[in-house]
Formats: sequence, structure tokens, C-alpha cells
Amino acid sequence: ATPTAITVGVGRGAELGILIKSGEALEAAERLDTVAFDKTGTLTEGKPRVTDIVGLALTAEESLALAAGAEQNSNHPVARAIVARAQEQGISIPATDTFETIRGKGVLATVGGRLIALGNRAMLADVNIVLDEGAEAAVVHLEEEGKTVAILVADSVVAGIIAVADTLKPTAMAAVAGLKEMGLSVAMITGDNPGTARAIAGMIGIDRVFAGVLPDVKAAEIRAFQEEGRRVAFVGDGINDAPALAQADLGIAIGGGTDVAIESGGVVLVRDDLTDVPAAIQLAQKVIGRVK
Ligand code: ADP
Ligand code: MG
Repeated sequence: ATPTAITVGVGRGAELGILIKSGEALEAAERLDTVAFDKTGTLTEGKPRVTDIVGLALTAEESLALAAGAEQNSNHPVARAIVARAQEQGISIPATDTFETIRGKGVLATVGGRLIALGNRAMLADVNIVLDEGAEAAVVHLEEEGKTVAILVADSVVAGIIAVADTLKPTAMAAVAGLKEMGLSVAMITGDNPGTARAIAGMIGIDRVFAGVLPDVKAAEIRAFQEEGRRVAFVGDGINDAPALAQADLGIAIGGGTDVAIESGGVVLVRDDLTDVPAAIQLAQKVIGRVK
């Protein structure tokens, strides 16, 4: 593209709230064939709320209290949802003696003298706990509803299950539909479990899902796409997403996201409107296609 075309494209983007950082970014946008989205905070609002509390060995209320105790020092969105729910219910949150977050899995803590493990299936596997048939069925059912499940283990007994759900961004469906109409493949990459991830992807119209992806592996998933010969955009908001944003042929950062993400993206979407993803690519195609 000519320098003039690039200047025009960057200027037009700025008017639309699509900040294009360089001519290279604009050219990359024009050549894409795949767009991969982070889930939490990108396709969803990133503010999950507790939807279900299932008492098993303990009551629902006891489970919530211990879970909130274990999570009170964590700033993971799941943790914040659990603590907020305990506060809303006026439950007094027990003190934590020791506390450790296990990245991509959950937390380990001692709460009121009890040994607590709280998190996903990977967390359960770490503490050698197998769910009985009833608990397993409850977890699967919640996941099929697109909820993320935190299983509470207290002194090696499955005490309860807490489910949280996040709200889809209202523009997610339209953005995915727009990209597909343009002939692009759309994928989702998330640390969340496959059941929940598939349910959410299904609601939005995404068919390729990479779930259970640890933060540092997101960039490797992008590289794997590129090794298939694909030209990939990655759309993300979080600190965790920075390596994937940098690895992608085009990193698209959500403007309301973290500073690190914004720095790593070649394009920054100022408005929290996911249809700006297809709009940015269309703009690049128009500007660059016209002068080729
Ligand atoms: P993501 O934000 O994409 O879900 P993370 O790597 O932060 O990815 O977490 C992956 C999964 O690990 C979460 O979906 C959740 O099931 C579990 N998890 C992580 N931290 C916690 C926590 N503090 N409490 C409960 N579950 C957690
Ligand atoms: Mg995110």
C-alpha cells in the first residue's frame, strides 16, 4: 500500500475508534484468514457472578463461607464472585491461615483449621480427589449451561460446588457472524474447561475451541495456527494475553483491557464493541485493496 493509503486508513480507523498503530498492522489485517478470541473479558464481560451453590458433604452456606475464606486474598474473577456472594448473603468470612493460588486451577488454603482446595478438575486431580457419580453429573450439567465450576474440597472431602457465570458481550454474536461472512475462521482460546468453553462458543457461533489453555500456552496455540500456514489475529484484553497478542500476525487489544495488552496490540479497539473487529479488517481490506 502507498503511504497515502495507509495514512487514510489509520485516520479513518481513528474516527471509528479503531486505533491502528502502524502500516504493518493495517497490512496484516488485510491478509488474515483466522481470528482467535480470548474468552474471559473479551467475548464475555469478565465479571462472573455466582449462580449456583450445591451443598454436598457440607451445606451450601458452609461451603460458601469456606470458599470465600479461601478466595478472599485472590483477585481472580471467580474468587471475587465467590467473596461478593458471601458478602451479599451476610455470611461472616472465616480467616485464612495459609493461602496459595495455583495458576489456571484454583486455590489451596487453610481456613479455620481446615485444609481447603478449591478450583477446577485440574485442581481436583492435584489433590487426588475423584468426584462420585452424583457430583460429576452436577458439574457436567452446570458446565453445559456455560457456567464455570469451582469444586470445594475440605479436609479431602468434596464439600460443595459453586458455579459462576459470566455475561456474553452483546456484540459477540454479531462480530463472529460478520467475520464468518467475510470468510474468516473464528476460534476461541481459554483457560476455562472444555465443557464450559464449548457451551459458550456454541452460544456465540464459534466452532473451534481451545480450552484448558494455561496463560503461557496461549501464544503457542497461535504459533501452531501459523505453522498450519494460517494468518492469525488474536483478540484479547488481559495481562495473560500479551504474549499471544505479540505472537499473532495481528494483535487486537480491547481498549478497556489491561495496559500490557494495549501495548502488545497492533490495533486497539477504543469502544467495547466486538463488531469493531470485522470493521477493522474490512477497513484494511478497503484501504489496501483499493491501491494494490
Ligand atoms: P481464564 O481467565 O481464561 O478462565 P485462568 O487461567 O485464569 O483462565 O483460569 C483457568 C481456570 O482455572 C478458571 O476457569 C477456573 O476454573 C480455574 N481457576 C483459576 N483460578 C481460580 C480461583 N482463584 N478459584 C477458582 N477457580 C480458579
Ligand atoms: Mg481475558
